[in-house]
Amino acid sequence: LDVVRAVEPRIAAAIGQEIDDQRASLKLIASENYASPAVLLTMGNWLSDKYAEGTAGRRFYAGCRNVDTVETVAAEHARALFGADHAYVQPHSGIDANLTAFWAVLSQRVESPALERAKVRNVNDLTEADWAELRRELGNQRMLGMSLDTGGHLTHGFRPNISGKMFDQRSYGTDPATGLIDYDALRATAREFRPLILVAGYSAYPRRIDFRRMREIADEVGATLMVDMAHFAGLVAGKVFTGDEDPVAHAHIVTTTTHKSLRGPRGGMVLCAEELAEHVDRGCPLVLGGPLPHVMAAKAVAFAEARRPEFRDYAQRVVDNARALAEGLLRRGGTLVTGGTDNHLVLVDVSGHGLTGRQAEAALLDSGIVTNRNSVPGDPNGAWYTSGVRIGTPALTTRGLGTAEMDGIAGLIDTVLRAATPATTAAGTPSRAQYVLDPAVAEGVAERAADL
Ligand code: PLP
Repeated sequence: LDVVRAVEPRIAAAIGQEIDDQRASLKLIASENYASPAVLLTMGNWLSDKYAEGTAGRRFYAGCRNVDTVETVAAEHARALFGADHAYVQPHSGIDANLTAFWAVLSQRVESPALERAKVRNVNDLTEADWAELRRELGNQRMLGMSLDTGGHLTHGFRPNISGKMFDQRSYGTDPATGLIDYDALRATAREFRPLILVAGYSAYPRRIDFRRMREIADEVGATLMVDMAHFAGLVAGKVFTGDEDPVAHAHIVTTTTHKSLRGPRGGMVLCAEELAEHVDRGCPLVLGGPLPHVMAAKAVAFAEARRPEFRDYAQRVVDNARALAEGLLRRGGTLVTGGTDNHLVLVDVSGHGLTGRQAEAALLDSGIVTNRNSVPGDPNGAWYTSGVRIGTPALTTRGLGTAEMDGIAGLIDTVLRAATPATTAAGTPSRAQYVLDPAVAEGVAERAADL
């Protein structure tokens, strides 16, 4: 840090503080993890300085032989890890991976001279006239994805994201009685709507998905099945999700982030069948800029780590820990969406405590427990305040915590949720944002959390 401090001390201080904060609190955000020192170190080097648009062996820049090695090795590990025909390791994030996949499917399935022309240009260089033509040729393609409030992601067709602007979108949700995906209802919607793309995958659904069933539905209506496994890629890599639960075995195209349960660097990736490969490989320059060679290198290191037998053990412990946490919360009277979990996350409905998700998130943070607020199905408090808190076990499992500690953590969470109450606004009504928590309770919990 001394090297950084000599240039910009505030950044060195923020890095140091981040390490202290992460050490002093319990990281229970379901999408976060701790990458290994090998992964972190692979990102801080000279590969970062290189431009390498194109793909290995077919670059738009000279001097790319080392980046070619990096990209080839990363893709080789990815294919072996997931049993995929083809891997594209350039996307800079999960959103980029999804955008690449959407355009790849459009490019494969829809006749569009405008898209052919756009493929050789950067998306930022397209003029209004180009966009108008693209919309005319590609417009009204349909996407069916999981609704945001039942656990889907913004990129699965929601208005604030470009996916909601590109596609005529419809959502499927969960059964209000069980909180589980209702495959019969989903099939009926798909038969009526006939989407070009059926998207499966989630950010906040605490259960597994039957991808074989999803593929049957997609085939029945002529849709391309795209699975976004950003959250649970580590459980696929670690062979906890196999058979009908293995997305790579059933989907036409699979996208993921590399930094959540997979424990790699921040980034994205697309896996696909051979017939989509040439379309996926055009991600740059269609929607991506130059690849990040240092991050692709770190992906290769992370995938190599995930191919080791220890990673299977890790993935199983992630799931065992989530179950132990869920059981601990249920035993203390907590309310969980779907009544439990069989993946890496638990979604707690905090409305029974008289709290919004935002209040619960803040009260837990003040007590050294880092989670994030999240909508529950049909949430009356909307996406900003919410009524839920999402809790995940990938990071603490990396730190070596086990099921006994998870029960202890359930106790700490329960203590905070019971002790916190909504504050009163100036107008005398209960606030949806502010809360009151006895500092002695917060301090006591924070001390016990730091001891774990
Ligand atoms: N897809 C899913 C299911 C996600 O949960 C997320 C991130 O939370 C993303 C995509 C986007 O990933 P990124 O933040 O790397 O763009």
